[in-house]
Amino acid sequence: MVNSISIIGAGIMGRGIAYTAAISGYTVTLHDISTTSLQRAQQEIEQIARQSMTKGFISTQQQQAVEQIQYTTSIEQAATNAELVIEAVVERIEVKTTIFKQLDTLCPPETILATNTSSLSPTEIGCQTNRPHKVLAMHFFNPVHKMKLIEIIRGLDTSDETVKTIKQIAKQMQKESVEVHEFPGFVTSRMNALIGNEAMNMLMEGVASAEDIDKAIKLGLNHPMGPLEMGDLVGLDTRLRTLEYLHKTLGEKYRPSPILVKYVKAGRLGRKTGKGFYNYEECEQHANT
Ligand code: NAD
Repeated sequence: MVNSISIIGAGIMGRGIAYTAAISGYTVTLHDISTTSLQRAQQEIEQIARQSMTKGFISTQQQQAVEQIQYTTSIEQAATNAELVIEAVVERIEVKTTIFKQLDTLCPPETILATNTSSLSPTEIGCQTNRPHKVLAMHFFNPVHKMKLIEIIRGLDTSDETVKTIKQIAKQMQKESVEVHEFPGFVTSRMNALIGNEAMNMLMEGVASAEDIDKAIKLGLNHPMGPLEMGDLVGLDTRLRTLEYLHKTLGEKYRPSPILVKYVKAGRLGRKTGKGFYNYEECEQHANT
């Protein structure tokens, strides 16, 4: 049985996973190499907890559990006591494999190691360890505390027991889960990357403004969010890395839109930097085309 969860990477996803794990009754440690990321994570997590308690979404006890989250720059501290580690660092295979090698030496042998990758191979990540049967992808969605799904992706050697434990944890986090065979981009990232990329190409071709593309998809196709708003929420750097990987592994139709490449070069990464397809530095959203 899993009681303690450590999360590696305190960015958009690591924060959400840490908050969700804490309100679901787990003892949580959040690790990042950046002190700034950890400080921002703590502020954001505690703010969500306060707001959620005021609105009656979580109890006082759950809010107190959130305040017990440990924040650390020491991977040793995060790894030593964890029964499950969820990695949520940048979408780069070399960074992820380095971390998994480290975790494999630091964690107790029974610890399950999960990656929150959007597209990469849990088999490739798992075979860097001596416990590939205990490695898999546990793909959460943004914002984690609101989104209902976890995609579970087995690596080649992931055991049934590991998948069963992760399904139980997903249930305890009040999430639905789907089991997906390993293939680049799984189900959701592959579909989402393609829709988003097409919207970016339309914006670049001058088919419509960012607002009108998003409005058309929301009101005409009944998507809850427009694809450009969604790109800004995910982070355009993360979206670019996913598309680059899908382009490399699945072919031409996933070639990243040149406007996406240009925005990432300019440091316009979406909400996290205050500017992407929309401007978040002002109260109102204005399209940047
Ligand atoms: P992010 O850029 O917001 O955060 C990444 C964090 O990782 C940063 O705080 C950074 O300091 C930290 N980091 C980098 N190298 C590290 C290392 N060696 N050790 C510890 N920490 C390190 O990224 P994100 O959007 O949270 O994405 C994280 C992962 O989740 C990626 O694999 C991404 O593909 C996946 N994902 C993202 C979304 C999304 O909507 N953003 C959704 C699902 C999955």
